Amino acid sequence: MKFELIELREDRIRFLLSGVTAAFANGIRRACMSEVPILAIDQISLYDNTSVLFDEQIALRLGLVPLQSKDLDSYSRPEDCQCGGEGCPGCRVDFMLSAEGPGMVYSKDIQFTDPGVKPAFDKIPIVILGEGEKVVIEGFATKRVGKDHSKWQAGTLCGYKNLPKIEIGASCDGCGKCIEVCPRDVLALEEGRAKATNILECSLCKLCIEECEAGALKVTPVLDSFVISIESSGVMPVKELVAKAAQEIRKRAEDLDAKLAELT
Ligand code: SF4
Ligand code: SF4
Ligand SMILES: [Zn+2]
Repeated sequence: MKFELIELREDRIRFLLSGVTAAFANGIRRACMSEVPILAIDQISLYDNTSVLFDEQIALRLGLVPLQSKDLDSYSRPEDCQCGGEGCPGCRVDFMLSAEGPGMVYSKDIQFTDPGVKPAFDKIPIVILGEGEKVVIEGFATKRVGKDHSKWQAGTLCGYKNLPKIEIGASCDGCGKCIEVCPRDVLALEEGRAKATNILECSLCKLCIEECEAGALKVTPVLDSFVISIESSGVMPVKELVAKAAQEIRKRAEDLDAKLAELT
């Protein structure tokens, strides 16, 4: 397997993996979306809500606020906790949200009992309060994974595509029609001939082939190479997210290995 970094930002990574199967690339994508445990608001008790929003709408908005934790590993998933899932400081973190209008209530107004836990973004609107309107809410966040519910999804936009291979034959007459039709600016004219200058952006749509009257173009996927794009919801840097996803895959492989060893 060969890894090649294409782009790395705090919340987004794009890399090329070669020498792997589509199932492996998809495994990484799925693990980033549904196997990396994170904190999210799980249950709330609404003591007062005189805002225009229904209780359920406020609950939904709170649940979808991405939460960062300085020490995520100190929390267990409820089913793995020593309390047996009943709820204790080892598997849940309590919060309070109390506000009175007029004004907008933002995610930064959620106060957690653990100072190391906070919303990933301060300015996510929760509810706008008019003069004298109030919300008083208590609740707790738990650590789960995206396959339990999308609010525990650490990876948001996660996808992959085969690395494209673009071949331009000798019959190219430099008419430029493929360049005009390409929606991703992949092709350019160089020395009177078409050339692929931005191949990673190619979506394999093949519009260029349809446009090429000379039949000079060939666009095919490289079957064992994948451009993988992962975006974090903000709960952790994307590099950490991909590393944790890889650890989850390894853990499963080790479990399988151990089970097979028991059979022999
Ligand atoms: S459309 Fe075909 S002939 Fe025209 S520039 Fe593109 S590859 Fe060359
Ligand atoms: S397949 Fe589509 S994206 Fe790729 S070069 Fe052709 S027109 Fe552009
Ligand atoms: Zn517990």
